[in-house]
Amino acid sequence: MAKFVIAHMYPDLMNLYGDRGNLICLQKRLEWLGQECEIRKCFLGDQVDLGKTDMFFMGGGSDREQELVFQDLRTRSEELWQAVQDGLPGLCICGAYQLLGEFYKAADGTIMPGLAFFGLHTVAEPGRLIGNILIEAEIDGSPSSIVGFENHGGRTYFDDPELKPLGKVLRGFGNNGKDKTEGLLYRNLVGSYLHGPLLPKNPVLADFFIHAMAERKRISIDVRLDDGIETIAHQQVEKMLA
Ligand code: GLN
Repeated sequence: MAKFVIAHMYPDLMNLYGDRGNLICLQKRLEWLGQECEIRKCFLGDQVDLGKTDMFFMGGGSDREQELVFQDLRTRSEELWQAVQDGLPGLCICGAYQLLGEFYKAADGTIMPGLAFFGLHTVAEPGRLIGNILIEAEIDGSPSSIVGFENHGGRTYFDDPELKPLGKVLRGFGNNGKDKTEGLLYRNLVGSYLHGPLLPKNPVLADFFIHAMAERKRISIDVRLDDGIETIAHQQVEKMLA
C-alpha cells in the first residue's frame, strides 16, 4: 500500500457547488484500489511542500474569494509552475482555473493578476453562464464524454493558439459560450468550469489523475473498479442534455 498526498488549496475560500467532492472521489477510489490517501489542507500563508505532494486541487470561488486568494497564490507561482512542468497532477475548477491565466477581470472591474502559467485571460461579462454541460474530450488517448454543472460570469479566452482545451462543448457554454472550448489540459493539469463535483460522474477523469499520480510514484495500479453507479449517474446527465 502506498500513501498519496493531495494538497487542497484554500479549502475555506475556494470551494463552490460541491467541488470538495472531487477530493472525496479521489480518496475513495484510491482506498478501493488498496492505497492510502491523505488530503492536506493549505490555507492562506501555509507552506506546501510540493516535493511531498502527489496532486493539488483548488475549487471554485466567487469574485470576493478569488480576490482574497490571488495574491497568496501568486507567491507560490514559481514552485508550482516547476512542479506542473515536472508533471504534478492538478485540478483547478472555475474560479481557480481562471487564476491560472494572465488575469481575471471581475464583474466590478477589479483586475486580479493570475499565475500567468498560460496565455489566457478571463473577463466577467453580463449574464452568468449557468446550467448542465456536456463536452467531448480525449482522456488518456480515449474519446470520452464529460458531464458537469457550470455557473460563472467570467469568460475565458485563449490568447496562445498552442493551448489545448479539456474538450469541445456539445451542450452548454464552456470557456466563453462562443468558441465551443471548455477548460484547459496541460500535461497532468486540468482547468475546467465543470462543478458537480466533476470527478464522481466522470470516473475516466478521476482515473486520469490517479494514473498520473501512480506513475510519478512509480507504482502500477492494475485493479479496475466497478464504475456501474458512476456510469448510471453520468448517463443520466447525458440523456438529460442529448
Ligand atoms: N467568480 C468567478 C466567475 O463568476 C468564478 C465562479 C466560480 O468559481 N463558480 O466567473
